[in-house]
Amino acid sequence: MKNHHSRRTFLKTGGALIAGHSIGNAASSLFTRKDAPYAEQDPGVSVLNPRDRVPLSFIVDDSTCLVNLGYFCTPQFGAAFPEREVYKKDWRSWPREIPDAFVREFGEWCAAHGVKGKYSIVPNPACVGWLDRELPGWTRRELRDSLKLVRELMVPNWDIHPEMITHTRVIDIRTGRPFPGVGAHNIENSWPQEKKSVDEIAAYIAYALRILKNCDLPCEGITTPGGMGNLVKSELSLAVQQAVRDVYQVDLPHYFKYVHAKADEDVQPIMEHLSGLGTDDVRVTVNVPCATGDWFGGWQGDRVPKGHRYASNDASSGRLVDLIKRGQPAIMLCHWQGMYSNGSKAGFISFQKVVTALHRGFRDETIWMKVSEIGRYWAAKDLTTIQRLGNRLELDSPFGTNAFTLRIANTKLTSPRVRTGENTSMLKRVANRTGLSNNTWYQDEDDALVCVNLPRRKTSIEWT
Ligand SMILES: [Zn+2]
Repeated sequence: MKNHHSRRTFLKTGGALIAGHSIGNAASSLFTRKDAPYAEQDPGVSVLNPRDRVPLSFIVDDSTCLVNLGYFCTPQFGAAFPEREVYKKDWRSWPREIPDAFVREFGEWCAAHGVKGKYSIVPNPACVGWLDRELPGWTRRELRDSLKLVRELMVPNWDIHPEMITHTRVIDIRTGRPFPGVGAHNIENSWPQEKKSVDEIAAYIAYALRILKNCDLPCEGITTPGGMGNLVKSELSLAVQQAVRDVYQVDLPHYFKYVHAKADEDVQPIMEHLSGLGTDDVRVTVNVPCATGDWFGGWQGDRVPKGHRYASNDASSGRLVDLIKRGQPAIMLCHWQGMYSNGSKAGFISFQKVVTALHRGFRDETIWMKVSEIGRYWAAKDLTTIQRLGNRLELDSPFGTNAFTLRIANTKLTSPRVRTGENTSMLKRVANRTGLSNNTWYQDEDDALVCVNLPRRKTSIEWT
């Protein structure tokens, strides 16, 4: 997937991200993060990170059930892009399967260490088979067991995303067959090659989502394979909103497409196609970028991992360390093939060292979250109206979120409590900031910090 990576690389080159977004008539500001929140917020109150900790998350691309996409994608990309050296590697020497034993090993280690993130399930991986029907090369029993493993082990801590339908050939959704012919126009990573309407893109995304729904997998967002949608960025974003709402009836769709790995880049989620703010029907797509490249084994699983680029063993340097110090979401990227590393697990071993280093250096300053949870928190952070009326804050949020954390400047609280409708609960004081969690507060010299489970719509925080 040179293609895959050329999209990432393209976006990493200076200024290209914003310039790329102005293709067509879309305003370039549509997809840049606003400095100020969209909703009115009292200047003496600021929304901090959840529990005043930096979110960590791990984005796993190109995963699916059993099929090793490095093995199956390489020859298909090679047919479409015969001049590219990266597709001429000896893919036949790689395993065709990434076994469930490895999913179990990875998933159990992550669960034991609190790691959360996003895990792709490509529904018709490289056209090998359909996960809601069968996967030639594996028995129905093996496929069923593999999906069960994802539902039971991965779903609790990972968002599941389709990474489109095949991650290789573009499917004619009227027939379910790949379009004939071979070339960039028929590969999802470089699709579409011309303008498409929001409806057309949404129909394609919805087709992928429905297969995962047939597999009883929950879904609140999608991942684009490689550069999919590069020519239609605005339409793609709105199509995600419509397709995810339509198929899964979720209130807050999100997607992963962009890599913001440059040292000075803002990596916070971006609210796109926002409408209805102030009404009961707020719609928005949350664009959650990742903050690193894939520095583990890569999409063919054959690169030597460079875990230190995320965090050195003593947690003194690395991209994630910089982000933690800056207080911005430290969302890391990999490809599933680069965890398994064609059987050596070199990428996974490197990843374990990174997590261990982060926990040793920043255990009390970080919190693992799913990508959807980060998106949800930022939606609440950007879209909640916050008014101060004496000893009371009135909050009105279109989306609820966990551990909503506020700093109230130059204020000493006595007996703070949170009120939602008829229910009032007292907040519990904690002795240090690291103790902040739902329904607690902390007083420092000048300011008060308050952490509450924020429901949708109106909440007040009062004190004496
Ligand atoms: Zn991919």
